[in-house]
Amino acid sequence: MKLLVTGGCGFIGSNFIHYTLEKYPDYEIINLDKLTYAGNPENLKDVVDNPNYSFVKVDICDPVIINEVMKEVDQVVHFAAESHVDRSIEDCSVFVSTNVLGTNNLLQSALANDIKKFIHISTDEVYGSTKEGSFVEEDMLNPSSPYSSSKAGSDLLAMSYYITHGLPVTVTRCTNNFGPYQFPEKLIPFFISRLMEGEKVPVYGTGLNVRDWIYVEDHCSAVDFVLHNGNPGQIYNIGGGNELTNLEITHRLLEAFGYDESMIEYVEDRKGHDFRYSLDCSKLQKMGWNPAYDFDTALEHTISWYKENKWWWEPLKQ
Ligand code: NAD
Repeated sequence: MKLLVTGGCGFIGSNFIHYTLEKYPDYEIINLDKLTYAGNPENLKDVVDNPNYSFVKVDICDPVIINEVMKEVDQVVHFAAESHVDRSIEDCSVFVSTNVLGTNNLLQSALANDIKKFIHISTDEVYGSTKEGSFVEEDMLNPSSPYSSSKAGSDLLAMSYYITHGLPVTVTRCTNNFGPYQFPEKLIPFFISRLMEGEKVPVYGTGLNVRDWIYVEDHCSAVDFVLHNGNPGQIYNIGGGNELTNLEITHRLLEAFGYDESMIEYVEDRKGHDFRYSLDCSKLQKMGWNPAYDFDTALEHTISWYKENKWWWEPLKQ
């Protein structure tokens, strides 16, 4: 297997590369990443000498280099994206460029090079918010933020290459990830880093917005499962089964550091803040995939990792 991983220097991509090289020592992986602020080669410094791993620094919007790399591989797992909602509210241009145009460039090149499997990594946010019930794969997309709208664009575009051209595309839609190597602008690592520095944590609005949380290793095992057992033209929801309000997450973190609620600072709510995301993941579960980690154990691992790897996140907060 010769696998192209895009965005492999980011949070989930680097965890996926670690996971795959360990589980399949004979697979070859080419990691293709532009190294934006979110891409960090330090995430993979322990695999750079692995003969089955190589890295190409390139923008997924570059048609020439992408086409050269695509000739070398049989399968693609596409993680590369602009991923932070708050940044998309400030300026969405790069989200459209990377998430929509970049994805289209990869799909075009995959088609020209007869790629055998193309896994497009999407998000639960493309379904939008719901007060009740959980979304199944057939539900309409109804994204609200500029980020989720750009992801919905790429998600639909990816599937259109299957419907129109027969490119073997599979889409996964996962809930909120947490774990090692997550950029400290995202809620859990941001709060951990603040609490480690004795600073208050800013909670948006009332803090009652609900998200489902999944440990990143479980997301990696799900993508691995889809890569080997999923079918072209199919969409698979992936979730951890841990719906919690932001306030509940905050309390767990405060408890872990021995602080009380006086360390919470309520701040003005995010514009257009979606209230609740929720996925029905029974399709993938019926096929045999289930998350392995319970939330509290995974959160403990994550807190320990950030405590032990201050060298990794401290420079990123400058
Ligand atoms: P991330 O921001 O940590 O990493 C993104 C990576 O993509 C970085 O290494 C960055 O350098 C690279 N990249 C960005 N623009 C690029 C471009 N134009 N060309 C090449 N590389 C580029 O993101 P993440 O949290 O690891 O998310 C990975 C994927 O998973 C994204 O597609 C995201 O939408 C999706 N996803 C994330 C979550 C989550 O909770 N983090 C949940 C569901 C789905």
